[in-house]
Amino acid sequence: MAPAAEIGVLDLQGGVQEHLDHLQRIGVPAKPIKQAREFRGLAGLIIPGGESTCLARLLTIFGLREVILEEHRRGLKLWGTCAGTILLAKENVGESPHLGLIDVSVQRNAFGSQLDSFQCRVQVPEVSTESIPLTFIRAPKIVSVRPAVNVLLEIDGYIAAAEDEQTLVTIFHPELTPNLAFHRYFARKCGLQPQAGGSAIDPTWTRQSWTHIQRSSDLS
Ligand code: GLN
Repeated sequence: MAPAAEIGVLDLQGGVQEHLDHLQRIGVPAKPIKQAREFRGLAGLIIPGGESTCLARLLTIFGLREVILEEHRRGLKLWGTCAGTILLAKENVGESPHLGLIDVSVQRNAFGSQLDSFQCRVQVPEVSTESIPLTFIRAPKIVSVRPAVNVLLEIDGYIAAAEDEQTLVTIFHPELTPNLAFHRYFARKCGLQPQAGGSAIDPTWTRQSWTHIQRSSDLS
């Protein structure tokens, strides 16, 4: 069998296309994943941001919950961004956990309402030598991690990025910035080789790059 060489993006709800676009920018084969049979050949799966309750229900409706648990047992690497982190956490303060695949505790909507969304810049030495812009959208906080989990980024007393051997979680959205460092980092974690060279930033990216506006001619 050919070695697993692709990264999938769970395509049920949320920021799917934005992750696919970033993976394309770093030259890593990627595809949206909606069905069990599409997991074949995947080295990693991104669970995007969106709304965790909605995503959890869709996982059950589409029968993908068990598939992800089984593929994780087989060694599939996972990356949850924002709501994806909530789905992957073993503990969800005041609520039931969903997939429970990384030993962290999260608290949903811990920064407040949608209006309390924000951006900042940080250094994450394990991920990039350059500072990285972060976008938080009604994010959860990772409030604690168990010893098997490595903290990649801590800000003001909460954990914003962490990983164990198989699973990466970030409470922010690297796919909504021009920075490609986290996507390269995850691709390498999956054993794939992102396109070499260049800065962490895609110079062609603009603030509108993640909006996919359909022209009226496309709709007719
Ligand atoms: N607030 C959302 C939730 O609790 C997560 C938001 C996001 O993914 N940007 O599911």
